[in-house]
Amino acid sequence: MPHTTTDRILNFSAGPATLPEPVLMKAREAIWNIDDSGIGICEHSHRGKVFDRVITEAVADCREVGGIPDDFEILFLQGGATMQFAMVPMNFLPDGGVADYVDTGTWASKAIKEAGKVGNVHVAFDGSATEYDHCPSDDELSLTDDAAYLHYCSNNTIKGTQFFHAPTGTGPVIADMSSDMFSKPIDWGRHAMIYAGAQKNLGPAGVVLVILRRELLERCPDDLPLMLSYAAQVEKESMLNTPPTFGIYLMGQVFKWILGEGGLSAVADRNQRKASVIYDAIADRDDLFSPIAREDSRSHMNITFKTGDAETDARFVAEAAEAGMSGLKGHRSVGGIRASVYNAFPEAGCERLAAFIRGF
Ligand code: PMP
Repeated sequence: MPHTTTDRILNFSAGPATLPEPVLMKAREAIWNIDDSGIGICEHSHRGKVFDRVITEAVADCREVGGIPDDFEILFLQGGATMQFAMVPMNFLPDGGVADYVDTGTWASKAIKEAGKVGNVHVAFDGSATEYDHCPSDDELSLTDDAAYLHYCSNNTIKGTQFFHAPTGTGPVIADMSSDMFSKPIDWGRHAMIYAGAQKNLGPAGVVLVILRRELLERCPDDLPLMLSYAAQVEKESMLNTPPTFGIYLMGQVFKWILGEGGLSAVADRNQRKASVIYDAIADRDDLFSPIAREDSRSHMNITFKTGDAETDARFVAEAAEAGMSGLKGHRSVGGIRASVYNAFPEAGCERLAAFIRGF
């Protein structure tokens, strides 16, 4: 798709991150006057006809993009993915039950901590032994019999590791897909619920997409505060209170953009190509750079690498910024360099970074 990157620079930020340019252009108009209503999207009542159409279309387009089966509900919630770390156990981890968690680092670890405040957690895989350099195969999991659910994070944004298969649990599988949501097709047969903060692949910060199998709702305790109950949120179709209207609008436009790009398979092919261009350049320069993640787990979304010398890493990041490429500094907990290249990041930008790596 043509990118009109003229006065904009290449933004490799891990999130909030690059959004599709046609979506931003359209949103610019909608902020002023959406659908010739004479009122902007941020100014319309969430109970009015205009917004009603926005959210109805967003749900329908989400279902089409994801190939989401009819027995799954789609919610737009608030509180970031971090709120989901708490809501998942509050809704699905009963007293006396145990939930299995796969610890692949940072976000997965935070989810474990939050769940531990609510109930019994079993760490089915502890990646810290290998510095979280990979996502485990099923053989590496130690599962509880009849776990309430198994939770995993499909892409570690910080370390740059990604699952290319969903792990198998003894209960329903729940995934934090914040940093690779809709970057490739999702196997709904292997997931009972997924959630994703919007600010990487889907839209602006402030809205979280939650997709969950209807039968899970039977487990939600009746005495939860309404905002924290999936059952209550489903009953009110994400409109228990004033929803994040602009975020839902923008996410809806991103869904339409994905459909226009040929859907998830086409987007996944492009993401694979984009990542390969950069990993190939790193391999060509193995005299200086080395990838941080193990080969079988290298993320197509967050490409992490380093020189082994913090000063040289910093010089790389600074010189890249001078050349119009921003946001390449690795997360402070990992160091090195990180190129985040979500769905909307242009292929030509990956080629530019690859050339820069080769010439550095
Ligand atoms: N999960 C993953 C994989 C993330 O990358 C992040 C952060 N961006 C979070 C969860 C936390 O998201 P939020 O800031 O929306 O709470």
